[in-house]
Amino acid sequence: MSIEENIIKIRETIPEGVTLIAVSKTKPVEDLQKVYDMGVRDFGENKVQELTDKFEKLPQDIRWHLIGHLQRNKVKYIVGKVYLIHSLDSIRLLDEIEKHYSASGMTAEVLIQVNIGREENKTGVDVDDLEELINACENCNHVKVRGIMSIIPQGDEDSCRGYFYQIKKIFDELKNRSFKNINMEFLSMGMTGDYKIAIEEGSNMVRVGEGIFGKRNYNDK
Ligand SMILES: *Cc1c(COP(=O)(O)O)cnc(C)c1O
Repeated sequence: MSIEENIIKIRETIPEGVTLIAVSKTKPVEDLQKVYDMGVRDFGENKVQELTDKFEKLPQDIRWHLIGHLQRNKVKYIVGKVYLIHSLDSIRLLDEIEKHYSASGMTAEVLIQVNIGREENKTGVDVDDLEELINACENCNHVKVRGIMSIIPQGDEDSCRGYFYQIKKIFDELKNRSFKNINMEFLSMGMTGDYKIAIEEGSNMVRVGEGIFGKRNYNDK
């Protein structure tokens, strides 16, 4: 199927109120342009260099989502270019974001990436350390937390559903409390293989790559 056909099919499965992020990592700008021409404005990249390259080449009204791990020494390159950072996972990274956004007089919009699978999945903040990270966010002046992101361990439908359920519970608990600088609006979970389950479990932001662009070939690059 073509990219255009994929978009049409996926849209039929996405209810109103759920944001579809087209995950375009490794894909050429011509492919992103096709998706853009279908009306999609949210694109996800997992590498800073690739995001900033594509940022230069594509229309300015794209909302770029940084969904991959963010190294502290790369923060300076994304200021003013990224709509939402999905991968805040440590106080050290938070400090670096605060520093660079403060210097530019801007505010970073971020999601806290929660590691729900623990040892199986090394990215994200452990649930046990979440409270401490949240406290640190409350002390920032140039960072706004807008929700939670998670990448769950691979597994069957029941396993996925269980993880999504746990993340939604954390999200709801935080949503019901009141914090400075923190507003739980976005719950970013679900990818090509499991986004429908994620939506059923409460996701309102899904990150779909291969389902839109087709298989990724990392040797192409
Ligand atoms: C690559 C990636 C996706 C998309 O995965 P697909 O299986 O291609 O849909 C989603 N989220 C993150 C963080 C990714 O790195």
